[in-house]
Amino acid sequence: MNKHASETIKTADEYFMHTYNRYPLVLDRGEGVYLYDENGKKYLDFGAGIAVFALGYGNKQYNDVVKNQMDKLVHTSNYFYNKPSADACEKFAKAAGMDLVFLTNSGTEAIEGAIKIARKYYFEKTGKAEGEIIAMNHSFHGRSMGALSVTGQPKYQEAFGPMLSNIKFADFNDIESVKSQITDKTAAILLETVQGEGGLYPATKDFLVELRKICDEQDILLMCDEIQCGMGRTGEMFAYQAYGIVPDVMTSAKALGCGIPVGAFAARGKAALALKPGDHGTTYGYNPLAGAAINAVLDIFEEEKIVNHVKEVSAYLVQKLDALVEKYDCIKERRGMGLMQGLEFDHPINSYIVEAQEKGLIILGAGANIIRLVPPLVIEKEHVDQMIEILETMIA
Ligand SMILES: *Cc1c(COP(=O)(O)O)cnc(C)c1O
Repeated sequence: MNKHASETIKTADEYFMHTYNRYPLVLDRGEGVYLYDENGKKYLDFGAGIAVFALGYGNKQYNDVVKNQMDKLVHTSNYFYNKPSADACEKFAKAAGMDLVFLTNSGTEAIEGAIKIARKYYFEKTGKAEGEIIAMNHSFHGRSMGALSVTGQPKYQEAFGPMLSNIKFADFNDIESVKSQITDKTAAILLETVQGEGGLYPATKDFLVELRKICDEQDILLMCDEIQCGMGRTGEMFAYQAYGIVPDVMTSAKALGCGIPVGAFAARGKAALALKPGDHGTTYGYNPLAGAAINAVLDIFEEEKIVNHVKEVSAYLVQKLDALVEKYDCIKERRGMGLMQGLEFDHPINSYIVEAQEKGLIILGAGANIIRLVPPLVIEKEHVDQMIEILETMIA
């Protein structure tokens, strides 16, 4: 650690609220799929700022669009229209199979919007403000009080009660567990199509298809959180598209802006009409800078056929990871979809994360025993090989 780096850490620790346990690494710049620290040391990045930098670092087309918009107009307020955000909503709705989109500043706020749609939809149907939401155990939906209330991890909730009322939890991929929680007050069922922080568990096809059927039969909203698994990461633009179903409400964030903070919730059919003028708002939502970023991201996805690339390179990654599972008894399982993969070990993996950094590789965890790999979607096979080589030297 050079003096400058340690000064940065000292300042941050002195003035930033102590909510994060950070690694003693000061990142300075990024280029392609590599990050550089303040000493100029290079890191192959398999974390992408937690599934954010889908296009890697320094994509020229993206940077130009965002810089130009920065010079033109950054904010308008919601009293007025602007073209970048209008175009972004159109492109996003079409890509997601949704009718209407609301732009937020983060994933957490996208979840808040989904919760409000569920409550309002039920209220309009019954005249009663008592709609229940069924969420999943081991889920993660964010840290605001609403998003925390639907996050099925008591360790995050414990000290912050009381949570929102009328929230129930069921076991992910267990249809009977969900059915046992349904009542005539059930307004919505909320799940991550692929659970991220909870351990890289994709929904099974049977589970999601059956949920869709139940929701159709009982006029319950199916709400998919695509904040981490969406935007091409699984080899489909949105993960639910791999299952042949469309939710009533969906959320996005993380890679949506590729670094510009923005999220979205979107809905179709009657659910899209639940929120009316005055029902919801946010000052910075629909701002033209974030709109421009979304447009650039969705344009580049289409022009560079990013989703096809993910299909190809993720097949290679899966093959390499499966070979590791085969070879080393201490790895229990590989799980995930596309470029959202987890390796579950029979022991804690934090020392691997630290050692990988020393060896110039950034990887993430998901729970104590799981290595999470969520690289930029533009990685190539050679980067997979480099990552596997470093991983293997640590495991062996
Ligand atoms: C990261 C994440 C969130 C929260 O998004 P923020 O932008 O951090 O507020 C919600 N749901 C899922 C599945 C996530 O991975």
